[in-house]
Amino acid sequence: MTGLESFQVHTKKQNEWINITEQVNRIVRNSSVAEGICVVFIPHTTAAVTINENADSDVPRDVSFSLDLISPDRPEFRHGEGNSAAHTKTSLVGPSLNIIVTKGKLLLGTWQGIWFNEFDGPRTRNVYVRVIGE
Ligand code: ZN
Repeated sequence: MTGLESFQVHTKKQNEWINITEQVNRIVRNSSVAEGICVVFIPHTTAAVTINENADSDVPRDVSFSLDLISPDRPEFRHGEGNSAAHTKTSLVGPSLNIIVTKGKLLLGTWQGIWFNEFDGPRTRNVYVRVIGE
């Protein structure tokens, strides 16, 4: 089975981190792939996906704070939409993940979760998932 799956995320604000681990896990379980790779792809230019700690909610907050320090809003920006800081954060974090699937499950560390990063919400976003393997 190598079907393309997707789901939507409804974001409420800028710099929102949404844990999508369970949605991706469900797709892996339903794929019947035991050994392979799970690709998670975000088709947006001001939203991204990353793996980070899912136990302490201060971690996403602190990483978000750090991204704001790295990419603040600047008066020198020229992009007319006014969201260049969000575009920069998206390039820093990235649009996709490849996660090993083994024994029918995502190979994630104990403290790892999959996070959807909204840098320019509120918006309705799409997440694509393809599980490749046998
Ligand atoms: Zn823009």
